[in-house]
Amino acid sequence: MRAVRMTAPGVLEHTEVPTPQAGPGEVLLRVGAVGACHSDLHILDAPAGVFPVPMTLGHEIAGTVDTVGAGVDGWSPGDRAAVYGIIGCGRCRACLRGEENRCRVIPVGGIGLSRDGGLAEYVVVPASRLLPVGDMDLTRAAPLTDAGLTPYHAVELARPRLRPGTSCVVIGIGGLGHMGLQILLATTAVRVIAVDTNTAALELAGRLGAHHTVQAGPDAVEKIRELVGPAPDGADVVLDFVGAQPTLDTARQVVATGGQILLVGLAGGTLPVRPVADEPPPVPLETGVVVPFWGTRAELHEVIALARDGRLHADVHTFPLAEAPQAYEALRRGEVRGRAVIVP
Ligand code: NAD
Ligand code: ZN
Ligand code: ZN
Repeated sequence: MRAVRMTAPGVLEHTEVPTPQAGPGEVLLRVGAVGACHSDLHILDAPAGVFPVPMTLGHEIAGTVDTVGAGVDGWSPGDRAAVYGIIGCGRCRACLRGEENRCRVIPVGGIGLSRDGGLAEYVVVPASRLLPVGDMDLTRAAPLTDAGLTPYHAVELARPRLRPGTSCVVIGIGGLGHMGLQILLATTAVRVIAVDTNTAALELAGRLGAHHTVQAGPDAVEKIRELVGPAPDGADVVLDFVGAQPTLDTARQVVATGGQILLVGLAGGTLPVRPVADEPPPVPLETGVVVPFWGTRAELHEVIALARDGRLHADVHTFPLAEAPQAYEALRRGEVRGRAVIVP
């Protein structure tokens, strides 16, 4: 079968590999669509030894069951499913609570992260990772599994603060951000302020219903402050889907006293939190900082329900498998709006 693999750090190749077979408890899925996540670029950029090579990338997968391995109940060839990408140990305290994104044994285990992913014609996944998607378009289903799930989980963590009359600043309206925006609008009554460097991303945010849009730049903090009020007031929640130095600095300068920063993006940079005597505090008092990771299977079920009920739509741009490397280059250059989705 054809697959797009990381063959060495930084090297992505469209190549031929043997079609895998489903072992006991596993399913062979014919891949219908795979989202191109910015994390794949971080995986490609990571130093040797952090991720296995060669490895087929792609952790945002939807497809159709081709064959089922021994002992698999409840799934048959032809069934359509989204893939919950995390594979926890299944035995630790967190996994037993259904919080496999907090597994105490396997920190970042998953399909396309620690074993072959979905940028291929077929992928083998444990049957327990599949969630039904009914007749939903698979190109719209695939982004739900990460671009939808990760912001949904972040919003769940922030939910106690997301009350009517509060403001949430969403930084980075890309794959995750454009879904996070819709999740906020569909499941809370907060005022949403969308921030991005890219005007096309801000236009998308406006179309999706953001109450305000702010161009990132030197005067962004001032513009956001006009909307959320002067310190010690501010945004009750900041969702940072970039995580670069300028966005971390914006986040800490606009968050309210007692507010929360959810640091989802992995671009780099430092968020100082420790107060130093005689200096203005780096974050307001009582600020909570959370570093969310992906989400739970139960949350993915809820994300799929939101999409099936018409409250959450991935804005997708499709590429054939052979053009996956070009899709990632476009993502790197910041030219993708919504989600680039690869269709093998
Ligand atoms: P993306 O490239 O689709 O979107 C990024 C958006 O941020 C773009 O719209 C871009 O214009 C905007 N942006 C870039 N620099 C900016 C700046 N300085 N100020 C404001 N906006 C800026 O990326 P994505 O796939 O949505 O992923 C976003 C981040 O989240 C990545 O770092 C990714 O690795 C990370 N991620 C984390 C998790 C997790 O579990 N924590 C899961 C998935 C992705
Ligand atoms: Zn991802
Ligand atoms: Zn575990």
